[in-house]
Amino acid sequence: MSRETDVLIVGAGPIGLLATYMLARQGITTLTIDKEDKTASDYPMTGRACCLYPRTLEFLDQLDLYDDLAQTGFISRGTVTYEKTGSRIATGISTLLHGVKDSYFDHTLHVRQKYCEDAFRDAAAKHGAKVTVPATLNRIAVSEETPDDYKVSATYLDAAGDSVEVRAKYLIACDGGKSAVRKLAGIPFEGESSVHHLVRMDAVVETDMPEPRLGFAFIHSPTHGHILWTAIDHGATRIGYGLNAALFQKYGLEMSAEDAMYEAKQAVLPFKLEFKQLDWFTVYVIQQRIAEKFHDHSRRIYLAGDAAHTHSSAAAQGMNTGIHDATNLCWRLAGVLKGTLHPRVLSTYSDEQRKATQELIAIDKTISVLVSGHKPEHLASSPKSPSELLQEFLKGVYAFNSGLPINYEPSFINDKANSLAIGLDIGHRVPDTLLHKPGLRLPCLVFTGDPARPPILEAIRQMKPQDRLIQTPVMDLFTIVPGVGFQFDETLGFERFGNAYWDTEWKAHLEFGIGVAQGACLVVRPDGILAFTAALSVEGFENVRRYFSELEA
Ligand SMILES: Cc1cc2nc3c(=O)[nH]c(=O)nc-3n(C[C@H](O)[C@H](O)[C@H](O)COP(=O)(O)OP(=O)(O)OC[C@H]3O[C@@H](n4cnc5c(N)ncnc54)[C@H](O)[C@@H]3O)c2cc1C
Repeated sequence: MSRETDVLIVGAGPIGLLATYMLARQGITTLTIDKEDKTASDYPMTGRACCLYPRTLEFLDQLDLYDDLAQTGFISRGTVTYEKTGSRIATGISTLLHGVKDSYFDHTLHVRQKYCEDAFRDAAAKHGAKVTVPATLNRIAVSEETPDDYKVSATYLDAAGDSVEVRAKYLIACDGGKSAVRKLAGIPFEGESSVHHLVRMDAVVETDMPEPRLGFAFIHSPTHGHILWTAIDHGATRIGYGLNAALFQKYGLEMSAEDAMYEAKQAVLPFKLEFKQLDWFTVYVIQQRIAEKFHDHSRRIYLAGDAAHTHSSAAAQGMNTGIHDATNLCWRLAGVLKGTLHPRVLSTYSDEQRKATQELIAIDKTISVLVSGHKPEHLASSPKSPSELLQEFLKGVYAFNSGLPINYEPSFINDKANSLAIGLDIGHRVPDTLLHKPGLRLPCLVFTGDPARPPILEAIRQMKPQDRLIQTPVMDLFTIVPGVGFQFDETLGFERFGNAYWDTEWKAHLEFGIGVAQGACLVVRPDGILAFTAALSVEGFENVRRYFSELEA
């Protein structure tokens, strides 16, 4: 048997399912396979990821996925920290949110990975994209010799153990940390495992801890590291603690559920803890690894999610980072497969996501050791406890954790060299005032500046029609006019670019850092990153045309 598809997606965890949905809603055909059927009624509950940060929530909102997840998840803004005696050290707005500004998402959403997977799978199915299970990938090859665009061939074993051949134009590996695709493609996975072990469990509990459902709670335990207590969906709580060397020697990786619950009770002392229902628990070793490249040599195979990078759950970033990968990859892939974007737009995906992941891994190396109740080498001589050091360290990385400041280096897509200087940096996320759904087309925003200052707009009024023509097939064109009036063209004295909107309180101009006496033309990537800026002039519009000619097929 053989099958043919635009994109073969290996792995239907959260990242594979999200990629399936993103491509399917653009009309791209996908074949998504997984070796396990996670929808089976006897499939065990998996906890794993349970915290979504603001930047991830922005992506999910732009993909019409946020509203349903927010119905299920715990919307968290608060935090409280307890000393080992049980006395409260600090309480208030979650310190994880201190770095959040100019986003409507001023909270974290605590919803377990299983429910995210269900939501992504359902959304993909509505676009006709279903997951084939059980299907275990065991061979991949790329051939430049094929006469058509189906350069990737692969084989998977179906439920009966029969081999099924697949031909695809591209392959996305979302098959987790032990990725078969990554190994078969020969992409090195560099990094290290530490000697520290963490326990994570999801349960419905009773406790005498004050404010157990504030969002996050932390306890400085003298025996079990920095205790994590997180209110999650369905009235459950995520509890996390470290196993010191003696405890790990006692239990090992085969720790029983009873032992895990017993140690949790010791970990949260002096508070009492009773288990009503244990949904899931795991013991795991902390490790940080990153693929040498997020693509193979042919650039037909791309890695996303845990297949590309793994880190500890201490910073709760695995699924968040994977969602960033999928979002960054799929707008490019959809454009290339629809024939509107040139395949070279795929070339910067790996560098962009690798850089963001490397920053995360550097942070995770310190956080994960401190969370497990130990001191990393560079802090070994400090007289402070691991918990105190953790609080200090976190203060410097709150903003990064939210995902909002993640930014990308200049490239032909993030064209800093030819851009007009405004108050925002190329390669950075644009603020929330005017974001647009990730999709195929790139928003091009013409901020007119103040129409009451004639010199700014006079240049456009005097332009020949061909000089002011910037519309291209891959662009959504908008005009943003400060103030409020009756008719756009009358106010401006020229025909608006695409649809126009009033910037009633001049807020958009202000937040985008555009002088009202200047105006500017901005190109935003489908994932909300500022890619290019130009002046409102003949030369500026020429630059916009040149910029798009680099991107288009
Ligand atoms: C204890 C714990 C807590 C965590 N907490 C958080 C958190 O709070 N926030 C956060 O963002 N992240 C967290 N993470 C990380 C998060 O779970 C992962 O980053 C996330 O699951 C990665 O998703 P993925 O789709 O890339 O991979 P996975 O979820 O691992 O999915 C891979 C899929 O590929 C399938 N597969 C594998 N091999 C094959 C094959 N050969 N053929 C076909 N299918 C195959 C598997 O069956 C699986 O369904 C946590 C992880 C752990 C372990």
